[in-house]
Amino acid sequence: MKFNGVDQTPGSNGGNKKQRKHSNKDNPVKDFFLNIWIWFKETAWVQVVLVVVLVFAIVISIPLIVRAATAVKPDEDVALSYWKGKRKNVNEMFYDTEKVIRSVAKPVENPSSPEMKKLLEEMVQYLKDIRAGVGLAAPQIGIGERFFAVYVDIPGKGIIQYGLINPEVLSTSLRKCCLKYGEGCLSVAEDKEGYVPRYYKIKIKAFDALQGKEVIVTQTGYPAIILQHEFDHLNGILYYDHIDKIDPWKDDPTVQKIA
Ligand SMILES: [Zn+2]
Repeated sequence: MKFNGVDQTPGSNGGNKKQRKHSNKDNPVKDFFLNIWIWFKETAWVQVVLVVVLVFAIVISIPLIVRAATAVKPDEDVALSYWKGKRKNVNEMFYDTEKVIRSVAKPVENPSSPEMKKLLEEMVQYLKDIRAGVGLAAPQIGIGERFFAVYVDIPGKGIIQYGLINPEVLSTSLRKCCLKYGEGCLSVAEDKEGYVPRYYKIKIKAFDALQGKEVIVTQTGYPAIILQHEFDHLNGILYYDHIDKIDPWKDDPTVQKIA
């Protein structure tokens, strides 16, 4: 429909009750919108077009809204959301005075989740860059679940790193060994001296979050000691539990001392 260009108001159009155009010289903006509204009210095809456009917009926007609402959060937030409420702070260790360190940890329900991958990567990064540690178990950061990270650079052997979840010991050697200068732990404030006898060789089955698959890890010597130290954490056991109470440096010839 076209406007007729004649200034007409209801009652001044010779009995024609249909309002064609409204004019208000004092307020042209209001006048403009009022005319559009009148045009809209009187024009069926405009109403149909508007309804179609609205329906189309709703149909298009629903999947977008659903996708936005269910979208996976950015990577950086995933691990943090998992850690929230389960640990103090990445830089803040739980010590052997706290219950979580002396408790048997529970299995991880979903080892292959992106949260676990991110978390284990963060733990490895922590060992690599922040603390001079070689292993970090979940209870040490306040999480009573069965997983631990290992990061160690061994001369001649290279970098060994794992993010092991729900580990199971498949076998150990009869042969024993221990570190020449004893062990230390990020959760033990004051070093406790003495030999910590360990198996020389260990075979562990676990889900490695860094590789995203089930693995069987076999290690000997120093890395085998690290694996046993971390595995112990999942059962509330600390290295000094293995030290001879009477003679910490008692020399057992069957236990090989390694540097
Ligand atoms: Zn430890």
